[in-house]
Amino acid sequence: MARGGGRSGAGYAANSYRTDALVLRTYTLGEADRIIVLLTPGHGQIRAVAKGVRRTTSKFGATLEPFMLSRLQLVHGRNLDIITQAQSVTPYGQRIAQDYDAYAAASAMVETAERLTAAEVGEHGGGLEAPSQYRLLHGALAALARGARAPRLLLDSYLLRSLATAGWAASFTDCARCGTPGPHRSVNVSLGGSVCPDCRPPGSSTPSPGTIALLAALLSGQWDTADTSDETSRREAAGIVAGYLQFHLERHLKSLAVMDQSSHRSN
Ligand SMILES: [Zn+2]
Repeated sequence: MARGGGRSGAGYAANSYRTDALVLRTYTLGEADRIIVLLTPGHGQIRAVAKGVRRTTSKFGATLEPFMLSRLQLVHGRNLDIITQAQSVTPYGQRIAQDYDAYAAASAMVETAERLTAAEVGEHGGGLEAPSQYRLLHGALAALARGARAPRLLLDSYLLRSLATAGWAASFTDCARCGTPGPHRSVNVSLGGSVCPDCRPPGSSTPSPGTIALLAALLSGQWDTADTSDETSRREAAGIVAGYLQFHLERHLKSLAVMDQSSHRSN
């Protein structure tokens, strides 16, 4: 499995680093290679090349498939870093692939993680919250792999918490606008969650009290409440979480486009 042991020269050694990484996504590259999108605790999101990974004889095996937790050695490349060694730490991918709902939830998690940890994302920039984003995703994938609880609940909890870590914390107890203690009946995703009768804009939704309690539980990790929620609340909560995610990712894409234009002007 290990390759190229022994002295590799000072330049090579100085240029290489080791890290644990969760595999978010892969792209094919050329005939036998792949670009692997990784989330790491210390380096945030990395895009790296795995050479020969698509050959059946590849030394990487399944270590670089989505959802896997692997320990990697990489060297800095001119554009992308190159993965020189990979060792499986926990094969979450293999366990998650055995359950369709878990697989669908994991796919949505890594897609969101990829977008939230791209360099420019989040109100604090992508780098500062990388360890927290890594821990959140790791915990969520591990819970999916264990079959600990309903995949949909794990997904919605993960989405609310990863958005909060990116600087977009929802509130499902106090009013998201004025802070008046709740719970309140109305929800408005563009204002950040629950809104009191005074702040409630037209077009706010009025989910069932059970749904609002579930959303608060998913955000804070109160699993006793979440596990005993009914199907209607889960469906309604999932719709609100999806709307909240979409609102922030789209708003972010628009602000990136504006930043892009202004940086072109200043050049
Ligand atoms: Zn209010």
